[in-house]
Amino acid sequence: MKRIDKNALLKTDFHTHSNFSPDSKASMETMVVEAINRKITDLAFTDHVDLDADLEVHGLDWDFDRSNYEKSINELNGTYGEKIRIYQGIEIGIQPHLAKANTAIIQESAFDFVIGSVHSVERRDLYHRKFFDSHSDKEAVRIYFEEMYESVKSFDALSVLGHLDLYKRYKPELGKIKLNEYQEIVEEIFKHLIQNGKGIEINSGGHRYGLDQNNPSDQLLKLYKEMNGEVITLGSDAHGPEFLAYKYEENIEKIKAMGFKYICTFNKMKPIFHKI
Ligand SMILES: [Zn+2]
Ligand SMILES: [Zn+2]
Repeated sequence: MKRIDKNALLKTDFHTHSNFSPDSKASMETMVVEAINRKITDLAFTDHVDLDADLEVHGLDWDFDRSNYEKSINELNGTYGEKIRIYQGIEIGIQPHLAKANTAIIQESAFDFVIGSVHSVERRDLYHRKFFDSHSDKEAVRIYFEEMYESVKSFDALSVLGHLDLYKRYKPELGKIKLNEYQEIVEEIFKHLIQNGKGIEINSGGHRYGLDQNNPSDQLLKLYKEMNGEVITLGSDAHGPEFLAYKYEENIEKIKAMGFKYICTFNKMKPIFHKI
């Protein structure tokens, strides 16, 4: 059953980071205040949990302070709750061998929303390109999606799959590889998500990396629509207040034109469908 919220002025950002992520310096309160300025009605913090991350790349402390995270969000909801709804999300790095450990993390906490994101392939962080250097371009894309499929199948706790074609951020040349080279495996991923009531996000963060597209690309979004995918969240992947709800209105118009009728927010892991 879909619960339809009739709030016509809805504006969401369901992928944001604060200084609970090691790669952000923004306090949650700074993010919330700017979100209110930007008339965002529904904001999810989705700070990073990346088990077995390729740590030497970043030299950062990836320990996640779960109890203070929950506390801060509750306090902010108390202070700003009349102006904005703030959700406890998480962006969890998915890899095939992490299914059990990731599931345990989600089960022991009361999250509203979980983005499952592939940040590492063959246990290498895509950020530092070693993975790409050891494969031909076509092979890299194929392995990327195959691992994603394995991870998605074994990790049932996700709400949406994060930035589907993220690899283009780190190696933009791979954007030249035609969809027919990897369509079959992406269809398997979509099929699995759709059958299990899961979704994908439209992540506008790629534009900041010089990409002329969201992740996923419009082409992949259309494929998702053709397969009757309905669960979609919009996220900026902002690591600071300046990019909150980046390209939100433009993306709403885009997906309407593609035929999508709803976007989702998530509350206590349940999707809420909002007419657009
Ligand atoms: Zn990510
Ligand atoms: Zn992110």
